Amino acid sequence: MMSRFRTAFADRRARWEGLCRRCGVCCYEKDFRGGAVVTDYRRPCIHLNTVTHECTVYERRFAACPNCRKMTILHALFVRWLPDTCGYVQRYRYRGRVRRGARAF
Ligand code: SF4
Ligand code: SF4
Repeated sequence: MMSRFRTAFADRRARWEGLCRRCGVCCYEKDFRGGAVVTDYRRPCIHLNTVTHECTVYERRFAACPNCRKMTILHALFVRWLPDTCGYVQRYRYRGRVRRGARAF
């Protein structure tokens, strides 16, 4: 019973993580400008490999980085600084429809 639960949990986590396109766009510093949070693409997180766009501390990212935030459905729906090309934004905000003129990095 517990192993079935663990397998189901692992499958669910893999499906959720599979939505990420590993673009790394969410891993840059944010600034508050003109009443909105904007991404500063000149300042990557110190744990981001800017060549591969991968996190170098992924499994312990929340402990390693105080600014790292867990992705949730609410983020996908409402956080404006996420790019339109983010897999979570595409899945939940646009329901798989590619938005015309989608913002990319
Ligand atoms: S620690 Fe978080 S913000 Fe930094 S690179 Fe890793 S996933 Fe991105
Ligand atoms: S912006 Fe979205 S797709 Fe890109 S790395 Fe971040 S969570 Fe993944």
